[in-house]
Amino acid sequence: MLMVKKFSVRNSPWRIKQLSACCILCLYAFTGFSAAAFATQDGSANDPAGGGPGGINSENWPLYPAAFPHDPRLERCVQHLLAAMTLEEKVGQVIQADIAFVTPEEARAYNLGAVLNGGNSAPGGDARAEPQAWLDLADAFWRASVDKSDGGAGVPVLWGTDAVHGHNNIVGATIFPHNIGLGAANNPDLIRRIGEATAMEILATGLDWTFAPTVAVARDDRWGRAYESFAETPEIVAAYAEAYMQGVQQANDARRAPGDPRIIATVKHFLGDGGTVNGKDQGETIVSEAELRDIHAAGYPPAIQNGAQVVMASFNAYGGHKMHAHKPLLTGVLRHRFGFDGFVVGDWNGHGQVEGCTNVSCAASFNAGVDMFMAPDSWKQLYYNTLRQARSGAIPRSRLDQAVSRILRVKIRAGLFEAGPPSLRPNAGDWSLLKKPAHKALARQAVRESLVLLKNNDGLLPLSPKISVLVAGDGADDIGKQSGGWTYSWQGTGNANEHFPNGQSIFAGIERIVSEAGGRAILSQSGVYQEKPDVAIIVFGEDPYAEYKGDLPHLDYSKDDGLRLLKKFKEKGVKTVAVFLSGRPMFVNPEINAADAFVAAWLPGDQGGGIADVIFTDESGRVRYDFKGRLSFSWPRMATQTPLNVDQRDYNPLFPYGYGLSYAGPVISIAQLSEETGLPPASPSRLGPLLRHGDAAGVWRMGVADSLGETQVTTSQTTSADSMLIARVADFEAQEDMRALTWRGPAKFSIFGNAIDLSQDSGLNMAMAVTFSVPQQEDIGETEIAMECGYKCEGALNITEHLRDARGRGRTTFKLPLTCFAQKGAKLTKVTSPFVINSDGPLTLHLQEVLLVDERANHNQINCPNTDAFEVVR
Ligand code: BGC
Ligand code: BGC
Repeated sequence: MLMVKKFSVRNSPWRIKQLSACCILCLYAFTGFSAAAFATQDGSANDPAGGGPGGINSENWPLYPAAFPHDPRLERCVQHLLAAMTLEEKVGQVIQADIAFVTPEEARAYNLGAVLNGGNSAPGGDARAEPQAWLDLADAFWRASVDKSDGGAGVPVLWGTDAVHGHNNIVGATIFPHNIGLGAANNPDLIRRIGEATAMEILATGLDWTFAPTVAVARDDRWGRAYESFAETPEIVAAYAEAYMQGVQQANDARRAPGDPRIIATVKHFLGDGGTVNGKDQGETIVSEAELRDIHAAGYPPAIQNGAQVVMASFNAYGGHKMHAHKPLLTGVLRHRFGFDGFVVGDWNGHGQVEGCTNVSCAASFNAGVDMFMAPDSWKQLYYNTLRQARSGAIPRSRLDQAVSRILRVKIRAGLFEAGPPSLRPNAGDWSLLKKPAHKALARQAVRESLVLLKNNDGLLPLSPKISVLVAGDGADDIGKQSGGWTYSWQGTGNANEHFPNGQSIFAGIERIVSEAGGRAILSQSGVYQEKPDVAIIVFGEDPYAEYKGDLPHLDYSKDDGLRLLKKFKEKGVKTVAVFLSGRPMFVNPEINAADAFVAAWLPGDQGGGIADVIFTDESGRVRYDFKGRLSFSWPRMATQTPLNVDQRDYNPLFPYGYGLSYAGPVISIAQLSEETGLPPASPSRLGPLLRHGDAAGVWRMGVADSLGETQVTTSQTTSADSMLIARVADFEAQEDMRALTWRGPAKFSIFGNAIDLSQDSGLNMAMAVTFSVPQQEDIGETEIAMECGYKCEGALNITEHLRDARGRGRTTFKLPLTCFAQKGAKLTKVTSPFVINSDGPLTLHLQEVLLVDERANHNQINCPNTDAFEVVR
């Protein structure tokens, strides 16, 4: 193992050494010492405390002492550095770019304060890059940042990563259960140790900073990020916030042993991310100030008081204002009530969603209290605009100095100025940490403790390991599926077992225990068998997703993959155990009815063996581990029972908050449950608008994409990453009732959502009705309309000629039978993007409405575009 003592702070009070190192550096970098450098302290005391948007009165919020006592030496050090920096360097410090869009050389030239790897970014664009490639790139960014050959201050750069369930971007690292499972474990000490283990694995790769813990209190389980939340109640979240901070940052400086390595944590997303209406990601949180404070803010004070140095602003709005510009909360509450003196980082182009802002310009966000913009792809233009705003006074110099001071303060406290290159820091390059048996054991313990036993009729569990079991279902032997989103990639899709060199599938764990005891475990995903097994274990559930891509219209688990198998074995008289993988409680009454035992396993991560540990006894028939998990989210009785939280009036869940059976408890049999979903017979999502008045309708979302990536359209004007396509709202017949799409080059506009099955009911009789106009324009590039159905699955129809014909002719509606897309390869059973326009550009298209309409009554055959002229209604 590489261990170079040169930069180690062991054996000396780290802080003193660190400060002196910083000051030496300051003096070294700055000789023209000026008293003016001391004039500005943090300065936030001069900011108005609140009032204004959102009806926030900071007087109503609890007052905490400053988390770190004022430290004159540290502050002097900050001022030295600040005084040595040019305006350009200061602006660079407040910007964070994504490694997919910035080179070390650019980070040097622009003096960027930080970089990150977003969910889909990795060294060389390779999601499976070796750990060494991460460390090498960390070194390259660090070296570039401290380079002073241009006369700059050489402030070391920070690298942030989403290590949200272990160091989950690194092949081979330990993947812990997602937060929802950890919440069910309700064990703060476990969380502290997970924080510690994760920090050690991050240190191995040389990164500085993690965007965790998420302290969202998810109140509506339809939210695609419910699994990132520990609980629907504030108590567990608050206790975990404290424990996680202690683990990941090695506690407050006072408690931290000298020389202990540590990672900077981020508490996110401030504030109200878990409270949006209908669980819509990035939506609006409409709750009273008291509820915002008592429920959604619960995790912040304990995290801050335990040394949290970074808070991430949230995408959601409160009181009609996006959090990225919510001064009463970002400044009034966070600074003046919670005692926070670190920095606020924005979320992925979150500033661009502020009214009047774009991804590349947003003084309002900065002035309201976002100290560092997360500008993954937009950083360069944002840099120039911010610089211009600092020069013009649109951003006061004092505000810029304040933000930079906060960033410098965090960097000094983290020991960054004396840490040296990432590869020479303690534990760097020690790849044994990624597969450390103690970390795997900890993850496996977390899996065991997270499992919630919902049903165990006739005491079927625990099973003897000496029997013959058949393990079926598409989750049985799939580490990617059991790990969920935020695993190697943003959405967690595309991962196979071989990508987890140190992982174990659920089947592999079962196989191990059963074969050691002399029993027999057979894997058959589809459930076929030659010899009738004693028991069948069916592992099934949600496929991986992240953020808004996981938002749901209701909680009906509607896929019949698990149900079919459960019923099949029941018919054959084989006892069944259902192991349900999901990011949230769901309506699974038919599955619960069909199973003898039912285990909610959440998203357990890469140590699937934890499941066998609990459901099997040892060879002598003794319980090895009892079920410890208890629901930290209420389980719904119907698919429409949302939101459902323990503190609400008329609370009537199927399984209440805190529920969970155990072997120690009495044998309880669950009677047949009603299978009434509560949904109208034909789910409204099947038929209806995809886009109305130029806006995505219902659960649908809009996105623009070009060769540099995809961007969700949530604001009045969105530009694709490489600026090939602009989508903006415009007026047609009424105000803002259409979406004007302008292509400059190859790009795609899409309406997407959770996969839906359009093949059922009237599917084959359905048509897509698109209402649009094509303004007069000279040239129109090749253009297709398509339906997408997941990875490399689509059906596309060329409509270039139709668009050319429609030029300057006003509003047009055309109808396309869904069978046209099916003929071209679309699988109507799992449509992920029902409406896609792919154009090489140039093209300007004004889109008003996209509907799915039932054509059963219409006997006139409509033709597919490239076979014949298709129906045009003018
Ligand atoms: C998410 C954050 C995450 C960031 C960086 C955002 O889209 O909301 O939770 O930390 O991306 O990947
Ligand atoms: C990134 C994520 C980010 C998301 C936000 C993705 O492309 O990889 O890190 O959270 O975009 O839209």
